[in-house]
Amino acid sequence: MREIFFIFKVLNFWISDRTYKNEGGYVLVRRFFGYDTFEHRDVASLYLGRLLVKGEVVHHINHKRDDNRPENLCVMDSELHEDWHRDMDYLAADKGIYLKIKTRRKRLVEQYGGILLVDENNRINL
Ligand SMILES: [Zn+2]
Repeated sequence: MREIFFIFKVLNFWISDRTYKNEGGYVLVRRFFGYDTFEHRDVASLYLGRLLVKGEVVHHINHKRDDNRPENLCVMDSELHEDWHRDMDYLAADKGIYLKIKTRRKRLVEQYGGILLVDENNRINL
């Protein structure tokens, strides 16, 4: 059944060509049929080749909510995702440290259980 939903999502993604931004700054895809969905979640799902499961969130590595390039997305557990933002806020506010993207990608995978969609050469990470 989940496979059928996944195929449905793929079809929807390729058919639809209209997007808009919500008040939170996220990009949504206006569906040809069905309902509007978050573009970053669809991109992650398509690259992973499966639907996201409950508790999985899609994080924007550069913290820009409208940058849905696959290299900017990381699939992770929602609690670890909250930890990440808390830790990054602490580093920024208390120490004035902003990690480079390369460092973030490495740390997200090694310390926060993140799944990158593509590697550093933009190859799909399977
Ligand atoms: Zn995030």
